[in-house]
Amino acid sequence: MKKRIIGPGATIGVLGSGQLGRMFAIAARRMGYRVHTYSPEDDTPTGQVADVEVTAPYDDLDALRAFARNVHVVTFEFENVPIEAVDAVEAFAPVRPSGVALHTAQQRAREKTFLADRGFPTAPFARAETLDELWAGVAAVGTPAVVKTAAFGYDGKGQHKVVTPADVEHIWKAIGHQEAIVEQFVDLQSEISVIAARGLDGEIAEYPAFENRHRHHILDVTTCPAAIPEPIAARAREIARAILEELKYVGLLCVEFFVTTEGELLVNELAPRPHNSGHLTFDASITSQFEQQVRAICGLPLGSTELLRPAAMANLLGDLWLEGEPNWAAACRFPDVKLHLYGKTEPRPGRKMGHLTAMARTVAEAQDRAVAARDALLI
Ligand code: AMP
Repeated sequence: MKKRIIGPGATIGVLGSGQLGRMFAIAARRMGYRVHTYSPEDDTPTGQVADVEVTAPYDDLDALRAFARNVHVVTFEFENVPIEAVDAVEAFAPVRPSGVALHTAQQRAREKTFLADRGFPTAPFARAETLDELWAGVAAVGTPAVVKTAAFGYDGKGQHKVVTPADVEHIWKAIGHQEAIVEQFVDLQSEISVIAARGLDGEIAEYPAFENRHRHHILDVTTCPAAIPEPIAARAREIARAILEELKYVGLLCVEFFVTTEGELLVNELAPRPHNSGHLTFDASITSQFEQQVRAICGLPLGSTELLRPAAMANLLGDLWLEGEPNWAAACRFPDVKLHLYGKTEPRPGRKMGHLTAMARTVAEAQDRAVAARDALLI
């Protein structure tokens, strides 16, 4: 049976209102869709470019229902949307990706268990809901290990390294006695991500692997194509496809991987939405990850994921504002560099304010340019 296409002119609802929603809204509006966004804040990165910005809490189920009645399909740009909010919305409009996918990805213990149960490779891990279980988990995976809170973790938040078992007790206290997973600390050669989309009819398209470098646990620079042997890249794409199939997923998914010093590929985590590592697709790919998300959730055929030129993306964090407004003209003096700012008015340290994308003949050159343009912001 042919599933109904939600065509241009229709209205897409976005739960969440950050930069991912903003870039999604730009892609959707370019294709002739209307966009409504819902979050507890106003004058948000997404709200500034959406047709309608609804400001209400995620636990206001009546406001959520009213929001859902005015749109044709709902997606989210932020994975900590409570599942009750998704359920309320689902009664009036399809939610894509589904609440099941969101539920799986929004809690680390569930996510890791889902992956391990289906035979996807992960670092050895154990779940812990009590101090005793945390002790047992550390004993099982060995040290060094990393303790990660099960809920609401991103950008390394809620993570603690266990160097010796003696660390366990203070870590348990530091995380506020909440459910966690303990994971073997692996020796990393590199970190990569594969962003892939699955359409309503089961069609899948994946982007070439992105290579990600972090600073203080926050993504710093992404380059594409990743400097990894092709068999590893092909295996990563294959795993991403298999995860999409397993979840009967509709929409865009980012699979983050560790590549160990032994050349082993381990799934680190899933993001059920566009991802920071895919921002360079906006300028450097035939179809951006945001347009691909629009196509997938609206039942349209997927676009080409081909990379036009080797590219690099450098994040712009609030720290760049410490000495005042960055020197935008200096960065724009690089003709192959694209400036993206998210419309956030408060530049706090560590806060993602924007990014730069550079394209060049080689990945190394693209990376040098993106970083040089970012350095120029402080001239
Ligand atoms: P996460 O929030 O799980 O993506 O972790 C943030 C970053 O911490 C990762 O991108 C890695 O650089 C590092 N990290 C997390 N888990 C491990 C691990 N098991 N072994 C080594 N490094 C890790």
